[in-house]
Order: sequence, then structure tokens, then C-alpha cells
Amino acid sequence: MARFEDLLRPTPKGLYCPPGDFYIDPVRPVDRALVTHGHADHARPGNAAVLATPRTLRIMALRYGEDFAQTRQEAPWGERIDVNGVAVSFHPAGHVLGSAQILVEWNGMRIVASGDYKRSHDPTAEPFEPVPCDVFITEATFALPVFRHPDPRTEIAKLIRSTRQFPERAHLVGAYALGKAQRVIRMLREQGYDEPIYIHGALRKLCDFYEEEGIDLGELRPATIARGKDAEGEAKASFAGAVVVGPPSAFADKWARRFPDPVACFASGWMRVRGRARQRGVELPIILSDHCDWDELIETIAEISPQEVWVTHGREEALVRWCSLKGVRARPLHLVGYEDEGD
Ligand SMILES: [Zn+2]
Repeated sequence: MARFEDLLRPTPKGLYCPPGDFYIDPVRPVDRALVTHGHADHARPGNAAVLATPRTLRIMALRYGEDFAQTRQEAPWGERIDVNGVAVSFHPAGHVLGSAQILVEWNGMRIVASGDYKRSHDPTAEPFEPVPCDVFITEATFALPVFRHPDPRTEIAKLIRSTRQFPERAHLVGAYALGKAQRVIRMLREQGYDEPIYIHGALRKLCDFYEEEGIDLGELRPATIARGKDAEGEAKASFAGAVVVGPPSAFADKWARRFPDPVACFASGWMRVRGRARQRGVELPIILSDHCDWDELIETIAEISPQEVWVTHGREEALVRWCSLKGVRARPLHLVGYEDEGD
């Protein structure tokens, strides 16, 4: 009798499937990689062959160049693809555009590697689909009962309210370049914010890609000041009351100093932790996570009702213990190298 570990097992390079001879989200270059989504800790350049959703492949090409792998193969949603006798299929994970859970089937066993996923409102990602399976591999980024994300719509409403309250100040929103930035922008539009939104140059390519894929981000303008203009003059004043979105790293450097008395905002699940907001000098924390909170995790496990749960990247122990108390066999995978690019 084959065991689940014969089908997928943790290795230093990532989750490995011996019969199919492939890795899922390998952290080091391998011959054959199946990639769940485009964040840099899951999708890395240098693999010989990559199998991923069409959108994830496009994102990898945008970030790493067209030569990010020797060969690539598209996995359309739900289509079963044979890899050395193992059937694999990709199903939406709701994390970022194109993000997938990967179902691996072999010898009557079904294992779902869900990558990063969430269940909360996000008009820029294909909604999570529960996939019946024997083993559900779940992330654990926010796997403590203290982590309860608020409704993302109220967080965006907070930002809009602040722009009205402080019309003379630019609102600098730190948001990761893939997924979070576009989600913030799209959700502002959903709530009727129709002013031009200024974006840091590092977001341009990905925002253009989301637009091409049918996600309307409204009018985006580059957050640059024309050369030769007086730093204290007209150009600087023109950002008053505006929303400026950039990668979190941009707000630490001198790029950010061009804005008049800015309101520092940061969109992240970690903004739930007051100390983190304070540490980063964030005046307006926007609690907006692309990962499940505790309730989403346990509700998803209850809904899928697998025989076993394998827990990875994050706070593994609490979720393993919760599963055990519910009579579900569970274990931590101790995979390393997933640094949480988009939280
Ligand atoms: Zn991710």
C-alpha cells in the first residue's frame, strides 16, 4: 500500500513528488517545477521546465524576463495534466491573480498543495475553490487565534475617509507590487474613489498586466516629478490629497521625501499587530491580507474535511494542535525558504 508520503514529501528544495519527478514551488533550481503563484518566494527563475497557470507564467516572464525557464507549459484551470503518470490540475487559490492550488492524484490518492490562499473579498484574484482531497497542505502565515482580519472593505473605506479628512496631505500607501497594490487600487475604485491614483514606477508593469487581464484600475499616473521643477513648488503641492501607491521599500528611501507632509499608510495583514505598524512609522495601518486568518483556515479545513492536514510556512504548531483536537491527523512540514513576499 502506497502512503501519502510516497506521493509528496518535504525536501530541502521544496515539496517533491517522487513518482512524477517534480517539485512544487522549489526554492532552488530543479528540472521540473510546478509553480502555485508569482510571488518571488514561490516562483523563482532558473528551473528547466515550469508548469503553471497562464497568468502565473506571464507574471514570471514580466518579473524575470522571457528566459526564466528553458521550457514552460500552461495549466488551464481544472485541466488534468499527466506528469510521468501522476495527474496534476490547478485550481484557484484566491491569493493573487493566477494563483493556484495544485491537486496531485496518483494510485487513488489525492493531495492538494494550496500554496498561499485566502477566502476574503478580492476583486483582483480568482476566488478560492475548495477541492476534495485526502491530504490538504495548508499555509499557516496567520495561524493563531489572535489573528482575525477585519472586513477588507472597511479598511479601504478608512483610507478614503482619511483622504477627505486631510486633503492637504498625500497618502503614501505601501503595498507589495504583485497583488496587494492592484487589490488596494481596485477596491478604492469599487468604493467610488475615482481620482487619479499615483503609482511608483516599480508597479507599472504589473498594473498594466492586470489591466490587460480585464481588471479595471482606473486612471493611474506615474508618481514622478518632472526634472527642473522646484521641490517645494507646484509639483510637490500637486500630490496634496492624492493617493500614492508604491512598494513598501520605496517609502524608506528618498523617493518618498518629495511628498508634502505625507500620511504613511501600509496595506498588510501584519498591520493587525500594532507594534509592527509603530515600528514602521505607519500612521494609517490598512489591515489587508492576502492570506487566511485563523477563522478562514479552520473553516476551510472543516469544509474540505481531509483525512490529513500538512501545515507549512508560518505558525505551524497551533494549527496542528487544533486539527488534533478535532480528530484530524496533522503534521508540520518544516519547509524553509518561503519569506512571505505578499502578506
Ligand atoms: Zn504569496
